[in-house]
Amino acid sequence: MVDGLANDPTQEVVGYYDAGSAICYDEVNMTGVRSIDFLMAKGMGDAGRFAILADGADLSSGTNLGEKITMSTGGWETFTPVNVGLSMQLSGNHTLCFYGVSGGGIFNLDKFTLSDVPGQNDGVSKDPDDLPDNPGAVAKITTQGNKVLFGGQAGSIAGMSLFWSNDGWGGEKYYTADVLKELKNNWKAKLVRAAMGINSNDEGEGLGSYIQNRESNVRKVKTVVNAAIENDMYVIIDWHAHKAQDFQNESIEFFREMSALYGNYDNVIYEIYNEPLAVSWSGVIKPYAEAVIRAIRENDPDNLIIVGTPNWSQDVDAAAADPITISSNIAYTLHFYAGTHHQWLRDKASAALSRGIPLFVTEWGAVDADGDGGVNQAETQAWMTFLKNNGISHANWALNDKVEGASALVPDASPNGGWSDAQLTPSGKLIKGIIQSW
Ligand code: MG
Repeated sequence: MVDGLANDPTQEVVGYYDAGSAICYDEVNMTGVRSIDFLMAKGMGDAGRFAILADGADLSSGTNLGEKITMSTGGWETFTPVNVGLSMQLSGNHTLCFYGVSGGGIFNLDKFTLSDVPGQNDGVSKDPDDLPDNPGAVAKITTQGNKVLFGGQAGSIAGMSLFWSNDGWGGEKYYTADVLKELKNNWKAKLVRAAMGINSNDEGEGLGSYIQNRESNVRKVKTVVNAAIENDMYVIIDWHAHKAQDFQNESIEFFREMSALYGNYDNVIYEIYNEPLAVSWSGVIKPYAEAVIRAIRENDPDNLIIVGTPNWSQDVDAAAADPITISSNIAYTLHFYAGTHHQWLRDKASAALSRGIPLFVTEWGAVDADGDGGVNQAETQAWMTFLKNNGISHANWALNDKVEGASALVPDASPNGGWSDAQLTPSGKLIKGIIQSW
């Protein structure tokens, strides 16, 4: 033991609800310290991730000494000893902060002590505001007629959609660089989708979303986009809303920010409206889309923009009858769930293609349209053949561990990746195989 307590941090709470909070201790003598021991408790719930920072209370200002994943200890006052190894050694006095990186209710902290014995950690996240430095490592996406082209060649790519980004919904823990590495290296995915939840509605849907917790959701999106760029993957920045026209100003502001940051990275695809409900294409969706497209194009003249279509992005024929003409490199969203949507929807898609608009499946499921139920093998196969034959790219819904048919992961699968087959659901196993062989 190098030193005793910096002070008496008994029963402190870090990141009680959200990532992004910190508790700090001043004047901690870090000379000779190689790891930190402490007691932590975490109630039921999903994994959290925290960082130990020196001299700053967030990832931008602090020096990240090491991070650790926390899982439930069985109760909020059920304490367990944890050791976090430090990735670098400091000397002299420093402010030491415990900072919530991701997850909710990350942990309850009891006394910490400083140790001169080296230990392990779960890595060091990059600051999401640090841009990646390899623009142009993937082929540029353009459109021509009803085709999406990659480096000028017709083709298609496959990957996964993350779950809603909302704080406290459970899927947000997979918005990590480690998950992106897993998808790239072991699933051979070329595409990932960050599904940023936007707003509350009358059913209470949307708590913890962009409108409520803006900074936290943007940080998650940036983490995923940066990791996708670093892994030479394409990434969809998805405005995951059912009534986006009610939040047009917020959407313009957000996509201005994203296109200013990422417009030079060919990896980035903007999806400006996930699933409109039963509203008019020409009267509601198209005017919204044109306003957002104009804002994006001020910063980024060329990256692909995908526009949702009426009735949960099924009525691609409505968009085909009145396509957007104010910009090039526009595609239209087609969503399907193989348990519910069969040949009739493929026929609708064929009709849209024949009128000359390109389609992009930003979300699909092998199960029923409500996200639950079992895998429909035959219809999934029919859809995959259709997509392959027509050069349509796709992302499967969803990389998450919620107990429902569409989830690819079993409950509490690690936010670090490295999943065994036993940690994949029936849908997850099927989809991993589809992506690997795409
Ligand atoms: Mg660009």
